[in-house]
Amino acid sequence: MGAMTRRSFVGLAAACAAGAAIGTAGVAFAGERELLRPPGGQDEARLLAACIKCDRCRSACPTGAVAVASVADGFVQARTPLLDFHKGYCDFCDACIAVCPTGALRPFDEATEKLGVAVVQKDRCLSYGQGCTVCEESCAFDALTFADGHPVVDGQRCNGCGQCEFECTALVYGTFAGGTRRGIVVVPPEMAASLGRTVVEDESDMEVAS
Ligand code: SF4
Ligand code: SF4
Ligand code: SF4
Repeated sequence: MGAMTRRSFVGLAAACAAGAAIGTAGVAFAGERELLRPPGGQDEARLLAACIKCDRCRSACPTGAVAVASVADGFVQARTPLLDFHKGYCDFCDACIAVCPTGALRPFDEATEKLGVAVVQKDRCLSYGQGCTVCEESCAFDALTFADGHPVVDGQRCNGCGQCEFECTALVYGTFAGGTRRGIVVVPPEMAASLGRTVVEDESDMEVAS
């Protein structure tokens, strides 16, 4: 079957069939949403080319920070690994990189590279109104300080480890009102670059940037 293996051909055919079946549901074959990848997976084209969706990185992560993309993220991206900082944060242990059998996750230097950048959402952050300071001590990289009672992220220093998002209490309170977001969230590097700032009024500001 040439360059395309039987397995990949069957997978592609299945994805096409599923795409045709869903069709009007608007699920993209290649997702448009930028995904937050585990360390070493920041080159999206390289990750998608090499990842065999074996799930080993998720199983290996001791903090539970690795999750998997769904069909809603695009058929190509489905079942590839992403980071979910509602479940854990990355401490750069490199366990996911070590178990990856294909090199889809390459060596990563947390001192010079970024998983993403943390962005404060003023409509969710409880420092606006309720005086919350929970995330103040969370950052191990000196990227998060408080000024006038509110968190301020240094976009240069932040490597996107997610500890601030993991510890943020806004989701707990927000859940009562149907919210699913935290007051500080890590966004992929490309989105952070197009956003150009680390404080936004609400989530719609980030949709414009993506
Ligand atoms: S480096 Fe360690 S903590 Fe970070 S995502 Fe990989 S396995 Fe999880
Ligand atoms: S361990 Fe590597 S090949 Fe397996 S799902 Fe994770 S990134 Fe993909
Ligand atoms: S994601 Fe949060 S805790 Fe991690 S480096 Fe950035 S500001 Fe600090």
